[in-house]
Amino acid sequence: MSIAAAKSGTAEKSSGAGKPRLVMKFGGTSVANMDRVRNVARHVARERAAGYDVAVVVSAMSGKTNELVAWCQDAAKVYSPREYDVVVSSGEQVTAGLLAMTLMGQAIPARSWLGWQIPIRTSDAHGAARIEDIDGAPLAEGFARGEVAVVAGFQGLAGDGITTLGRGGSDTSAVAIAAAIGAERCDIYTDVDGVYTTDPRIVPKARRLDRIAFEEMLEMASLGAKVLQVRSVELAMTHKVKTFVRSSFDDPDAPQPGTLMCDEEDIVEQPIVTGIAFARDEAQITLKRVADRPGVAAAIFLPLAEANINVDMIVQVASDDGAATDMTFTVPGAEFERAKAILTRTQSEIGFASLHGARDVVKISAIGVGMRSHAGVAAKAFKALADKGINIRAITTSEIKFSVLIDEAYAELAVRTLHSLYGLDQV
Ligand code: ADP
Ligand code: ASP
Ligand code: MG
Repeated sequence: MSIAAAKSGTAEKSSGAGKPRLVMKFGGTSVANMDRVRNVARHVARERAAGYDVAVVVSAMSGKTNELVAWCQDAAKVYSPREYDVVVSSGEQVTAGLLAMTLMGQAIPARSWLGWQIPIRTSDAHGAARIEDIDGAPLAEGFARGEVAVVAGFQGLAGDGITTLGRGGSDTSAVAIAAAIGAERCDIYTDVDGVYTTDPRIVPKARRLDRIAFEEMLEMASLGAKVLQVRSVELAMTHKVKTFVRSSFDDPDAPQPGTLMCDEEDIVEQPIVTGIAFARDEAQITLKRVADRPGVAAAIFLPLAEANINVDMIVQVASDDGAATDMTFTVPGAEFERAKAILTRTQSEIGFASLHGARDVVKISAIGVGMRSHAGVAAKAFKALADKGINIRAITTSEIKFSVLIDEAYAELAVRTLHSLYGLDQV
């Protein structure tokens, strides 16, 4: 992404002329009703009083985007990505207007900005668009007039069409705007007071982290921790945006700092495993008695790749007789039916006996930059899971994480087991 202001140098770093700038993002639960919108206004008022020019990015009220998505599904069998975005982007328009009015009601000059008005230019991949360019100048002009900029998150513009950035995309809007206006900081306010060692709703013993390395947060988010959208972490990392995750439910007059995403080198005590993530939206496919010959993997995975289906974990069992083998792999749950249809269509070309699928699986991952320099981290987990009678269906590892695929019924037990195993429990 090239962010216009940063690229053209028009975004003076906040340390330059004028007031320092701040981006504050409030997620769905933080703007769920008018009382909460008023609470957001108090947070904004505090930062303004502290001397910042503020851009606030808001999500739709919680539950709203789901409702809009369901209406789209109800409207017609034919899926129109362009009209989907017209509908689902509307939730953010409502909260942006409401917050601007609330601020004005408190004698704080403010105006709302929709994606097309700034504009936030994106790719034309409706429903999952990527921000390509943001002009920071209009927002800066608003600051010069003394206004708080209230920006509708999640939305952008491609050609003359409204786009949306994928679920959770307001995080990405916030970080991208912070980069475009040269903000000193981007604060992501949500319903938890920071990034935890795992989802605190699943593991009450999860610990809040003061700091998390960008690379770790990137893996956590990619592997299921929905506290930040993956793309927002990538942008924070590449544009060096100082980003905090913090709670909107803190007393606006005495807020806590939350969790800072930072470079690995800025974390003094680095544990081997920093966090555990889990993703329930995986599906497993097993092809039984696949002909064991050169080219068979390509025959299976090329058609899936051509159909834009991401294959994640792959396990090939060694064949007993040299003639046939079993192949297991995972695809996103949403692509399960499509993947099965493609494989069934190409069954005779690939040459397999039968296809078995499962949706009731979960991928559990352990993440930590400390894994780079320690051996046997994953092996310890395999043993601990086996001791609890949990069967592992597939495994993948990389430099700073490993993942196991298990039955969904054991998800919470497995997360808690690994969380304790790596000493992450709160004492
Ligand atoms: P928002 O609506 O503010 O964008 P989200 O629901 O998208 O909020 O993200 C916040 C949620 O992320 C939390 O309520 C929590 O349940 C979940 N979550 C998952 N993993 C983690 C984690 N490691 N640390 C903190 N929260 C997490
Ligand atoms: N409202 C959108 C969603 O629910 C974007 C966001 O909340 O970040 O996905
Ligand atoms: Mg979110």
